[in-house]
Amino acid sequence: MEIEIPKHLVRALWREIRLRYPAEAVALLFGTNVEEYAVIREVLPIANAIKGVHGFGIPRNAYASACNKRPGQLIGFFHSHLEDATPSSADIKTMQSDASMIWLIGRSGNPPNGRDFQLRAFCLGAVPSKDDPDEIAVKEVHS
Ligand SMILES: [Zn+2]
Repeated sequence: MEIEIPKHLVRALWREIRLRYPAEAVALLFGTNVEEYAVIREVLPIANAIKGVHGFGIPRNAYASACNKRPGQLIGFFHSHLEDATPSSADIKTMQSDASMIWLIGRSGNPPNGRDFQLRAFCLGAVPSKDDPDEIAVKEVHS
């Protein structure tokens, strides 16, 4: 599986990471996910429902209103980590509650710097209960 993201949206996520540092940045990802090929067409940064520095949560009202405005177009979630772009055990638990979603994780570095910035994507695929998500290739494209 592969996920395509235009470079201007990558830059938007990077801006959001720096804006929210040291807390985790959070965004909803909209686009299409058809036959093993997902395309991100819009990112919607939202406030992190977790008030501390570690972890992230999506405010229920933001999630509901986004889904209502763009039915069927929510394909995944973005959030950032300072040190590594792999899903934490808490992330995996949340992934299991909706295995159709793609998880895009951005490593920012601490403090955020372009050298450490990395985007990786994961999904649980056909076995929603498993605890080792599959990695999805991230393809950055010119927009
Ligand atoms: Zn995480």
